[in-house]
Amino acid sequence: MGDTIIESMALWLGIPLEKIEKDIMHQRGIALLKKRLDIDSRSILERQARKLVQIILNSAPTQAHYILTGILKKILLVKCSIGKTGCRDVRDWDVIKLYQELKSNLNAPGIEWAGGKKGVVCITHDVDFIEGYDFVEELVELEKEYSIRSTYNFLVKGRYRCERGLFQYLVDNGFEVGLHGYTHDIALSYRSPSIIKRDIEKALSEMDFRVMGFRTPALSISKNLLTVLKELNFKYDSSLASTSSYWQGVEICFPFRYPGLEIWEVPLCLQDSTMFRDHSLNDEDALQLVKNMIDGIIDVGGVAAINLHPCILKKRMNFYQKLLSYIKDQHKIWITPVIGLIEFLERRIDEG
Ligand SMILES: [Zn+2]
Repeated sequence: MGDTIIESMALWLGIPLEKIEKDIMHQRGIALLKKRLDIDSRSILERQARKLVQIILNSAPTQAHYILTGILKKILLVKCSIGKTGCRDVRDWDVIKLYQELKSNLNAPGIEWAGGKKGVVCITHDVDFIEGYDFVEELVELEKEYSIRSTYNFLVKGRYRCERGLFQYLVDNGFEVGLHGYTHDIALSYRSPSIIKRDIEKALSEMDFRVMGFRTPALSISKNLLTVLKELNFKYDSSLASTSSYWQGVEICFPFRYPGLEIWEVPLCLQDSTMFRDHSLNDEDALQLVKNMIDGIIDVGGVAAINLHPCILKKRMNFYQKLLSYIKDQHKIWITPVIGLIEFLERRIDEG
């Protein structure tokens, strides 16, 4: 396990593996990252609550899903002690503090992103409900106006009918098509490995479109899920939260290969549902929060993966246009769909 963690740290720092192994702090780094990546330790209460809520959701009308998931989150929030939105300044994250210390100790340059950019923004969209699906084309056209390309993660049985023509249009125009699940099962990761595998295999066969990335519904995550994704040839998962109001975030804003499984993980730093549904922020406050998060992550040379939902953006277009405009104007930022980032990293590793 230690090896892949250290490989990841060397990648972020832009230095050879041997160099980092000589530093006395690398053992501290391994211990800290192991602790942060202990994803199977989420409480039994949360696992059971998700399974129970999912049973109710299965027979509830679409409009109720959002509200019921919101209620579940509010219950989890009661026991949360992290703070209002869970969005601590990135420079206060333990892993990032350690990264900065190592960077300075080793006089490391930090990873240089494509085009010599300082940091990366990946915008992803989880397409929930027919309202979201019907709004995808409008969002795509807006993003094209800003020359921004993003990732759209679809459900196969999301109470909408996936059209192959839309997938092809997205890919032909430089966007990415990813998978968000067979159904929107918020307890997917906590089911048995055989059920997880059966669900994702069904999704892949019915979707009939090559996808390389996965985002689990409502960010449930487990090693079982990552193992299945690896077995089914996914290149990456992006379901781990860097920060969260509900549980301990991984506090990592760099992609890494999950120890022992080798699948890439791209941690998610912020979601629109957290800002608008769970914390009832107005457009202005939400925009400020995202900007602060992006600025902090770019400042440390990391990747800001931001997840949005077309069904939410539909009512927040003013917010989204301002966000796109802000990102586009930052010339030090590389904006790419997640798969572009993964391909870049794999080339980088191959080149040594
Ligand atoms: Zn979703």
